[in-house]
Amino acid sequence: MLDLKNVSVSYGDYPALIDVSLTLQAGLIGCLIGPSGCGKSTLLRTIAGFERPVNGEVWLDGRRVSSVAHCVPPEQRRVGMVFQDLALFPHLSVAENIGFGLQDWRRGDRDRRVAELLDLVGLRDLARSFPHALSGGQQQRVAIARAMAPRPKLLMLDEPFSSLDPELREQLPRELRRIFREDGITALLVTHDQTEAFAMADQIGVMRDGRIEQSGSAYRLYHRPETRFVADFIGEGVMIPGTVLDDRRVETELGILEGWLPEVCRPGMLVDILLRPDDVIHDDDSPFKARIVDRAFRGAHFLYTVALDSGRRVLCLAVSHHDHKLGEDIGIRPELDHLVAFPQSL
Ligand code: ADP
Repeated sequence: MLDLKNVSVSYGDYPALIDVSLTLQAGLIGCLIGPSGCGKSTLLRTIAGFERPVNGEVWLDGRRVSSVAHCVPPEQRRVGMVFQDLALFPHLSVAENIGFGLQDWRRGDRDRRVAELLDLVGLRDLARSFPHALSGGQQQRVAIARAMAPRPKLLMLDEPFSSLDPELREQLPRELRRIFREDGITALLVTHDQTEAFAMADQIGVMRDGRIEQSGSAYRLYHRPETRFVADFIGEGVMIPGTVLDDRRVETELGILEGWLPEVCRPGMLVDILLRPDDVIHDDDSPFKARIVDRAFRGAHFLYTVALDSGRRVLCLAVSHHDHKLGEDIGIRPELDHLVAFPQSL
C-alpha cells in the first residue's frame, strides 16, 4: 500500500530525511519511533503531500504520488491524518463529526458508514452528544473514526495518545489495533513511546537523525537489534564487556556466554554484549552473586537492578513472590538463547 524509495527531504540546507526507504502492506499497522527531532513528522508530512522530496519517490496503492518532479496534492491522495490536538468540530455531534468527510456520499451509504464506525469505536450511545461532553478517550475515538470514515488508503496518526492519561494510553492502542483490523485499515503511527508501538504495530521503523536505522517486528527489534542505538532505544537492558573466544562464545564477568555472534566478531576481540532483564535469571545456586541496588515492582515480576563484584550494574527480572530487599545479595545466572554483540571498536 505504501512504498517509499530512497526519500530525502530538506528544509533549506537542513536534511530532515535522508534516503528513507519503507514499505507497508495493505491492512497492516506500521509505526515510526525515534527521539524528538529525528524526522518522524516530516516523514508523515511527506507521505501526505505537504513536503516535496529532493530525492526519491513515494508510492501509494500502486501510484507514484511524490517525486522530485511531481507531487500529487494532499487532497487527492486519499490519506487520512489524526493529529495530536484532535480538532473536533465543537458545534457538531459525534455522528456529524464522524460523517463530516462523507458529504459527497449518498445519504444511505453515509448513514451506514457512520453507524458502522459508531459501533466499531463503541460510541453508539453517544452519537448525538457534543465533543465537550466526552472524555479524552472518547474524543480520541471520534477523531479516529472521522479520519477512518472515507476509507483512506492510509491513515496516519501523529502521537495520537500523548494527551491521554496513563490508563487510557495503555488501553486505547490495543483497542485501536482491533478496530483497524476489523475495518481493514492500513495505518502508520508516529510515537516516541515504545509501549504504544509494541501494542499496536505489525512493523516498527526506528528513526534517528533523518534515517531509518532499522525496521522490523517488535520481536526482531527487541531480540536482534542491529545497532547500539536500536538496542538502547528499544526495550531495557545493559551492555557488559567481554572477549570473543570463538564464533559462538564470549567470556564475560558472568561466565562464558554462548550463542550466534555477528561475523565481524573475531576471536580475541573486545565486544559489548546486550543483556535484557529477562536474560538474567535469579538463581540462588548460581556461583555469581550480585547485590540488589534498586527494585521496581511490576506486578507479576520484580525488576531488580543488581551490582556485580566489579560494580557493573545489570537488570534481572524475577517472579514477584521472591521479595528480596535492597542491599541483599542474590544469585544470578545469565540465560541467553542468542547473543547480541557489538565490537567495542565500532
Ligand atoms: P520529529 O517529528 O521526529 O520530532 P520533525 O520531523 O518534526 O521531527 O523534525 C525533524 C527536523 O527538522 C528537526 O530538526 C526540526 O527542527 C526540523 N524541522 C521540522 N520542520 C521544519 C521546518 N518547517 N523548517 C525547518 N526545519 C524544520
